[in-house]
Amino acid sequence: MPVLVMKFGGTSVASLDKIKSAAERVAFEVSAGHSVIVIVSAMAGKTNELVELVNATSPLYDAREYDAVVSSGENETAGLMALTLQTMDIPARSWQGWQVPVKTSSAHSSARIEEIPTENIMTKFSEGMRVAVVAGFQGLSESGRVTTLGRGGSDTTAVAFAAAFDATRCDIYTDVDGIYTTDPRITNKARKLNKISFEEMLELASLGAKVLQTRSVELAMRYSVKLRVLSSFDEPNSNSGTLVCSEEEIMESNVVSGIAYSKDEAKMTLISVADRPGIAAAIFGPLSEASVNVDMIIQNIAEEGRTDMTFSCPTDQVLIAQEALNGAKKEGHINFSQLIADTNVAKISAVGIGMRSQSGVAAKMFRTLSDEGINIKVIATSEIKISVLIDRKYMELAVQSLHDAFGLEKIT
Ligand code: ASP
Ligand code: MG
Repeated sequence: MPVLVMKFGGTSVASLDKIKSAAERVAFEVSAGHSVIVIVSAMAGKTNELVELVNATSPLYDAREYDAVVSSGENETAGLMALTLQTMDIPARSWQGWQVPVKTSSAHSSARIEEIPTENIMTKFSEGMRVAVVAGFQGLSESGRVTTLGRGGSDTTAVAFAAAFDATRCDIYTDVDGIYTTDPRITNKARKLNKISFEEMLELASLGAKVLQTRSVELAMRYSVKLRVLSSFDEPNSNSGTLVCSEEEIMESNVVSGIAYSKDEAKMTLISVADRPGIAAAIFGPLSEASVNVDMIIQNIAEEGRTDMTFSCPTDQVLIAQEALNGAKKEGHINFSQLIADTNVAKISAVGIGMRSQSGVAAKMFRTLSDEGINIKVIATSEIKISVLIDRKYMELAVQSLHDAFGLEKIT
């Protein structure tokens, strides 16, 4: 029997009633002839609650016990889902990560899945079981400890199971009905995409469209897992959700498929650094050693041997970046007159695989922003993405005008 993976996020299992309606969707797929692996998250809010409890014990907690505590929310929903399915006469049982076992690295709170042996669950399927309910987000390290995969990790559990069991598809049930051209809260012209490529989804996921954990998309791309994102609250129909798939399955690629934004990026400027060979290495070396995630970089034209260097990094890494750069200055590796952190910025990005073959996208983006009187502070590009840093107060205007400029309300 073909295997289907269905993942239900926290809002889809937030109460017994919600678990029941999720179970009805599972029942439908079982009657359609699938063996189903259901991956569940913890009830909405549960993991936050558990994290707070751990933090309240001590700021310097044992990461292994953190994982033991925060993984428990998924055990609860896995058992409840199996019980609910049993009341519907569907042969089902629950599995915690260690029972499968989902083998992971030992990086507690951000472990990586290394292997998922399929024998245990396959044997049960062959004995007549129809649904394996697996607790998402958790695994087992080589030393026999419970691990977790990082916040949002159930998505990654789901994709990893789909890859391991060669599933026909991996359906991610969530509280939105798919992936949109931009955040519908910013413009009501936002449209649901029927299909999006892995590459585009990766850019959107890492840019702050928080529907899927970035690692789950990476994994889906690597193993060609067909991913579908859909709402667990809507009536299913043929147009349900968004399919995240390989580029080849998309007939006409959009030049721009989506406009993403992020408020979590800060702009850092070093004023008056010596313009000499090795200066970039001297600045970005210490930043990388301090694990600062630098995204965009600009080096200004030098005047009288001095230049300004600007880069962006996540807002919550500003202090670490300052420390690293001031440290390097003290040790005499770099010299600057001032280090300015601007946290009042937003990053806006246009993403689309069609950019590879179409020119003029950057020009159009810059012209649109300039027509609105929005100043661009920093620019970065990749093959399928153009990002700009602007004043935070123009964020919504920028998203709306770019969404209009690229005709995204007409996308299907
Ligand atoms: N419950 C975990 C979290 O809230 C994992 C997940 O839901 O994906 O991060
Ligand atoms: Mg999630």
